[in-house]
Amino acid sequence: MPDKILVTRSSMPDFDEYAEEIKSIWDSHWLTNMGPKHQELQKQLKEYLSVENIDLLTNGHMALELSMQALGLMGEVITTPFTFASTTQAIVRNGLKPVFCDVNPVDFTMDVTKIESLITDKTSAIVPVHVYGNVCNVEEIERIAKKHNLKVIYDAAHTFGVRYKGKGIASFGDVSCFSFHATKVYNTIEGGAVCYHDAKFGETLARLKNFGIKDTETVSEIGANAKMNEFCAAMGLCNLRHVDAEIAKRKAAVERYKQNLASVDGIYFVPEQKDVQQNYAYLPVVFDKDVFGADRDEVFEVLGQNDIGARKYFYPLTNTFDCYEPKFDANETPVALKISQNILTLPLYADLALEDVDRICSVILSCKK
Ligand SMILES: *Cc1c(COP(=O)(O)O)cnc(C)c1O
Repeated sequence: MPDKILVTRSSMPDFDEYAEEIKSIWDSHWLTNMGPKHQELQKQLKEYLSVENIDLLTNGHMALELSMQALGLMGEVITTPFTFASTTQAIVRNGLKPVFCDVNPVDFTMDVTKIESLITDKTSAIVPVHVYGNVCNVEEIERIAKKHNLKVIYDAAHTFGVRYKGKGIASFGDVSCFSFHATKVYNTIEGGAVCYHDAKFGETLARLKNFGIKDTETVSEIGANAKMNEFCAAMGLCNLRHVDAEIAKRKAAVERYKQNLASVDGIYFVPEQKDVQQNYAYLPVVFDKDVFGADRDEVFEVLGQNDIGARKYFYPLTNTFDCYEPKFDANETPVALKISQNILTLPLYADLALEDVDRICSVILSCKK
């Protein structure tokens, strides 16, 4: 039996490279609280992502949660249910009401034609997701936000390094939040970042990630603790040296998948987006049972029997979660509902061998009826 293939595998530098990077932490005993590694990573990421301002946090979730707090959002927030739990949880944990907008069936980002009908006098923001690294219709979202005086916070957890029309993806919207979790294209073990334009917002966010402390004798906000520590920042400095090479290897794997499967009837791949430099973060495919013969769950089962770990990502939709009271109705987002029932993300990481891609594809093809 060949080795088990997981859906993802974290990128890591050589051990010696990391050991070298953390040596100075032993000399200084400065372990966290915006130390030299934090400062250096902040500087390098600002340049790599081509952004005006960036702050580093413990994780992508706190990036979202504290950004919403720092913007002082109130009332309702228009968002997508086709995302990881974090996006919706961050909204609800801020005491805001998520209003779910459907997604488009082409790239699964927010359907911009459906946003305006959801706006009420309580709406304060739009929180779209660049899902799987697919870029939202940023121009149309900006037009709507300006017209209705709404803030835009992008959940950019999947779009590390993505560029649109030559600009870093976090140039768009008021705020963009990245995740540097172990499973993402670029990781700092756990970590996240907030990119923003407004300096005042940045000052508030910097206090919120440090208990709301303004100076030694003044606490001005009800903050949390979300500071990236020096060991995570050191991991980030190492991984940043290799991320372009890692993305190139992901691209080769994605191309191999497409060679094998793109012409098969009943398997849908998201088409390449115009003017987008992508990062190959995920490989989502949608199965049409009427054409392919097998449905998503059957393919998932057969892959599992062959020790191949695909994921039903994003299933279930966040607007079906039990924890929300009052409950939401997923039938109000029918496109997202249908996609979530038919989608699988296939294994994808830099070190995935092309022969393994071939094996995964032949297992999938064996399901066709
Ligand atoms: C991973 C992820 C997050 C949360 O990031 P963490 O760093 O794991 O806290 C938020 N939104 C989306 C879409 C994600 O995939």
